[in-house]
Amino acid sequence: MFQFTAHESCGKCFPCRLGSTRGAEMLTKAIDEQYKIDKKLFADLLQTMEIGSLCALGGGLPLPIKNALQYFNDELTPYFK
Ligand code: SF4
Repeated sequence: MFQFTAHESCGKCFPCRLGSTRGAEMLTKAIDEQYKIDKKLFADLLQTMEIGSLCALGGGLPLPIKNALQYFNDELTPYFK
């Protein structure tokens, strides 16, 4: 979803343009390497995108990500510190 948003972002606002790219980078790094995502940093990223994006592309991304973190907590916890 981060990759899709980064690809589709029009680039008008920073939270979506940069946030989607940074989110995709963090998740890719966590999957491919021994990198652990900082939970606070990730939560800040989602909040910034949610309240700072100008349209629903960037602003709508955090909800499904939060849902995944809530309902697939056991599977996703190993990727976070
Ligand atoms: S949130 Fe909307 S306006 Fe902002 S960069 Fe993304 S697509 Fe463009």
